[in-house]
Amino acid sequence: MHKRLVGTFVASLLASAGCAGGIGSVGPEDTKSGGRGNPFKDVAFFLNPEYTASVEATAKKHPEEAALLLKAAQYPTGVWLSDIETVGHLKGWLDEAKKQQDASGKPTMTVIVVYDLPNRDCSAESSAGELLVAQNGEARYRTDFIDPITAQFKAHPDQPITVVLEPDSLGNLATNMALPRCQEARSAYKNGVVYAIKSFHLPNVSVYLDAAHSGWLGWDDNRAKIAKVFKTVLNDAGGPQMIRGFAINTSNYTHLSNRDGAVLEPTNPCPNELAYAKQLMGTLAMYGFHDHGVLVDTSRNGKGGIRTAWGNWCNIKGAGLGERPRADPAPGIDAYWWVKPPGESDGSSDPNGPRFDPMCGSNDAAKGAPQAGKWFESYFIDLVHNASPAL
Ligand code: BGC
Repeated sequence: MHKRLVGTFVASLLASAGCAGGIGSVGPEDTKSGGRGNPFKDVAFFLNPEYTASVEATAKKHPEEAALLLKAAQYPTGVWLSDIETVGHLKGWLDEAKKQQDASGKPTMTVIVVYDLPNRDCSAESSAGELLVAQNGEARYRTDFIDPITAQFKAHPDQPITVVLEPDSLGNLATNMALPRCQEARSAYKNGVVYAIKSFHLPNVSVYLDAAHSGWLGWDDNRAKIAKVFKTVLNDAGGPQMIRGFAINTSNYTHLSNRDGAVLEPTNPCPNELAYAKQLMGTLAMYGFHDHGVLVDTSRNGKGGIRTAWGNWCNIKGAGLGERPRADPAPGIDAYWWVKPPGESDGSSDPNGPRFDPMCGSNDAAKGAPQAGKWFESYFIDLVHNASPAL
């Protein structure tokens, strides 16, 4: 997972508009994309038993604060499909969500992160994926990854599903084309995302395209770049109404409302995620996008002021759980959600191991970290201690 900070210089020349008084409004009305409204409203949320098991195992080892740690398991977390093998478990997760739905009598939403494009994480190392453009990755992405996911969505038509589609991918297309691995991935990313959007256009599925975060795309020129990418992709996919909205801050740490960003990058007109949501929707409106909702990952952004550089993204020390997952928390925001399961690592801190990214060795990064996606117990405990609001 990479959160690259780019475009600062050009942006500093162009940045003028502040986030306050941004163009257009985020518009919280319930008549958005496809006329289906905010999918997070009036639903229960799927609790992933595997996440609960990780929390319980940690709590068992720390009886003195088990009650506090266990509170984290009361909240829903994203289910990540990060490789082909994991797609084999999707049926189990959706069956379990259906059981929870039947037990509560309330539609039960599962949030699924679809994350396996060829040349994945093209501007970083720690989440480099299994598929490669050079090894038929584009075709395999369709047949071995997206198609079986679609089949499961169709096999579970009576429960709501949200997809966060390919974190970082379109952000990389917007700003990282100077990197050879991203350049090579350009058409595979675009075609893969288009294929996924078309495939997931089902009555029970809502798709949010990942729009990175303020510290990456907040600058005026970068917002224009991502808007152009979204426009191209959605034109090819059948139009803006094919998706419900945009996901921001996925796996990142940017606070909802404080001014850290303004200190770290004074030329960025979006110092935090709520400012970014508003400004991004304003930019998108100029490109013909209206009526989309925003989903914000608040799993680890409770504490501000924890980074020396905004571009640092790996296991940031001092981070705390953020706002609890819920629908309609702020104007234009469909939901706050723990998309990154808090306690799972962003990448290994072992410089001699595979997939080591220097970001995970930086002074801001917690040490002793396992590979991306693996349970990082001491980090989970710190997240709970630093939770804001407190658990
Ligand atoms: C990793 C995935 C993992 C996800 C959630 C990503 O950074 O690359 O493998 O499933 O985080 O923890």
